[in-house]
Amino acid sequence: MPERSKIPDPSLARLATVYRALLDSQRNGRKSLNSLDLQELTGIAATQIRKDLSHLGEMGKPGVGYDIGDLKRRIAERLNLSRRQKFAIIGAGRLGQALASYPGLVEFSFKLAALFDVDKKKIGKVVNGVAIQPAAEISKNLRRHRVRIAVLTVPASAAQGAAEAAVQGGARWILNFTPAHIAVPAGCVVRNVSFTNEFAVLAHFVEK
Ligand code: NAD
Repeated sequence: MPERSKIPDPSLARLATVYRALLDSQRNGRKSLNSLDLQELTGIAATQIRKDLSHLGEMGKPGVGYDIGDLKRRIAERLNLSRRQKFAIIGAGRLGQALASYPGLVEFSFKLAALFDVDKKKIGKVVNGVAIQPAAEISKNLRRHRVRIAVLTVPASAAQGAAEAAVQGGARWILNFTPAHIAVPAGCVVRNVSFTNEFAVLAHFVEK
């Protein structure tokens, strides 16, 4: 079995898209799919899908469709989605609360474990069953609940401090929605997410 880190990032993202399609198909009562079905559902070329799936090892006989349950299990194992992952959101403003309320993350085995903010008016408010806690307690609470994933939805000026508190509490994986560059110790992983950048890229293609 190849190491988890050997799958290139673009393949990981496409496998996540395939996983989403498998969840939807299973909900619609389907039992199997072939790579052309997956192409139709995801917009990813069937040849590319087969290449990405080759990271999961032997994939059965060519020409025969994939068993959805089996493929889902194999992607989940490889992407580490088969075990529940707790995450915390730091910054319970517009974006933080929207993410906290999004039900789709549960299907990917992510469980919101904590929400933090500095605004006294927000502390104690319950979002998706989780009470907003004071940011001063980030390190203590992450450590106590063994939360290793932190999502940053604070203003850019507060991002580095929030990341440091999360790392001090044992977080090693950070999803950074802020526009700030975050410096973390070796061994930590930061993924930067920007819808705004996506808009900017789209703007480039809009006819003048
Ligand atoms: P917001 O002002 O609604 O929310 C920010 C929240 O963070 C507030 O509730 C504030 O009290 C809290 N906060 C401030 N300092 C804090 C600290 N030290 N610890 C914990 N909480 C703290 O802002 P928003 O619109 O939700 O945006 C949040 C962040 O996400 C911003 O950095 C924004 O630039 C970014 N953002 C990114 C994208 C993207 O495409 N990646 C899209 C929208 C917003």
